[in-house]
Amino acid sequence: MEAQNRLLVILGAGESGVGAAILAKAKGWRVFVSDGSKIKPSFQHELLAQHIEFEAESHSMAKILSADLIIKSPGIPEKSDLMRAIREKGISVISEIEFGGYYSQAKHICITGSNGKTTTALWCYHMLKKAGLNVGLAGNVGQSFAKQIATEAFEIYVLELSSFQLDDMFTFKADIAILTNITPDHLDRYNYQMENYVRSKFRILQNQRATDFFIFNADDQLIAAQMKRHQITAQLHPFSLKTEQAMGAYADEKQLYININKQQFTMSIHELALKGKHNTQNALAAGIAARLVEIRTDVLRESLQDFINVEHRMEFVAKVNGIEFINDSKATNINAAWFALESMDKPTVWIVGGIDKGNDYSELKELVTQKVKAIICLGLDNQKIIAAFGDQVEVVVEAKSAHEAVAFAYQLATKDETVLLSPACASFDLFSSYEDRGQQFKQAVRML
Ligand code: ADP
Repeated sequence: MEAQNRLLVILGAGESGVGAAILAKAKGWRVFVSDGSKIKPSFQHELLAQHIEFEAESHSMAKILSADLIIKSPGIPEKSDLMRAIREKGISVISEIEFGGYYSQAKHICITGSNGKTTTALWCYHMLKKAGLNVGLAGNVGQSFAKQIATEAFEIYVLELSSFQLDDMFTFKADIAILTNITPDHLDRYNYQMENYVRSKFRILQNQRATDFFIFNADDQLIAAQMKRHQITAQLHPFSLKTEQAMGAYADEKQLYININKQQFTMSIHELALKGKHNTQNALAAGIAARLVEIRTDVLRESLQDFINVEHRMEFVAKVNGIEFINDSKATNINAAWFALESMDKPTVWIVGGIDKGNDYSELKELVTQKVKAIICLGLDNQKIIAAFGDQVEVVVEAKSAHEAVAFAYQLATKDETVLLSPACASFDLFSSYEDRGQQFKQAVRML
C-alpha cells in the first residue's frame, strides 16, 4: 500500500491502534490518532516517542473526515455518530490486521469462532514455538500485529480474529483458517440477525486459494449450512468428535487421531493438557494446523500434554473443605457455559448472570437438570435466568457482588461438590471486565 504522505486516521489508541500508528509512521504515512476516551499513559508515551500526533477524549471531526484511510478499533460500534459521518463521506475503513497484512510477508494462521479462539490460538502458538519455528502471536491476544510487522521478522503468525476485526478486512489472506464453532454471540452488534454474524465469521475464508487450508468444526450445523452456500477454494480439513475424518482430525471417548498427508498421529485424550470436550476440539484444530506446517509428531505430542492456558477459562481456583471452585468467567455466552456444565462430574452450584447478549437459556435446561443443585445469579437484572430455571432448580438466589456469591455458594455446596462461575453473560453491570469478575471471584474464594 502506497503511503505517499497520505493521511491515515486511527480511531482508538489501544494496543491495536498504537501498533497501527507505529507501522504507518514507519511506512511514510501522515498519522493522526483520535480516541474518544482517555489514553493509557504507556500508549501516550509510545506515540510521543514516535512523534505521532494524537488527541484524547475528543474526536476532531473535520480532521478525521479529511483522512485518505481510516483504521478503526474493533470496539467502536458502527452506530456511533462518528462512524455514520465517516460512512456518509465514503472513506475506506479497515482494521489494524488488514493494515498489517499490507506489509506482511509471513504465513498467517488465523483463528475465529464464537468460542475457543484464544485457547486454540495460544495452543497452536505453543506447538509452533516448541517446534522452534520463528512464530509471532497477535490479533486479540498478545501484542499488536501491525506493531510486530514494523518491529519483528516473524515467518509465521498465529492470529486470533474476532468477527469485528473480520468485518473490516478485505484483502488479507489466511494461509490456514480455523473456524472453531458458530453459536449466537454479540447479536446486539449484528442487528440481532444471526445470518449477519455467520457471514462475518466466514470472511475468514475470503481471498483463500487452492493451496490454502480451511480447518473447521464438522459437528457444527451452522457451519455446515453456511458451507453449502459458499464456494470454498481452500483444502478442507474438518475436525469432529462424532465422525472419523480421513483428512483432518477426530476424537472418540479415548483417543484422538490427526490425519494429514496420509500420515496418522494418535494419542490418548486423557493425556491432553486441558479437560472437557470443548478443549479436545481446540486441541484437534490446533493440532491439524501444526501438522500442516509440518511440526514433528513428538513435539506435537509434548505440546498437547504440557500446554498451560491463560486464566478465567475453566480455571481451577482451590478446594476448600472438599468443595472445588472453578473460574470460567470468560464464558460470556450460552455455548461456553454449556461446555462448562457438560464437563461437570459432581453436583454443581452454578454462578451465572450479568449482561445478556440475547441468550436463549432453554438450551441449557437439560444439563441444568442433570448437574445443577443450586443457582446463584450474579447480575443486576436476573429475571430471565429466574424465569428459565426457577421451577427446575430448588434454590435460586441473587447476589450483587463476587463476595456475596462465593459466600452463598460456600453455604450451599457440600464436600465433593463443585462451585462453577460460568456466567453465560458479559460482566459490565457489576464488574469492569470478565477479568475483573474472575479476579474478584478468586479473591473471595481464597478468603474463605
Ligand atoms: P474466545 O477467545 O473465543 O472467547 P476462549 O478460549 O477465551 O475463547 O474461551 C472462552 C470461553 O469458552 C471459556 O469459558 C472456555 O471455557 C469456553 N470454550 C473454550 N473453547 C471452547 C469451544 N471450542 N467450544 C465452546 N466453548 C469453549
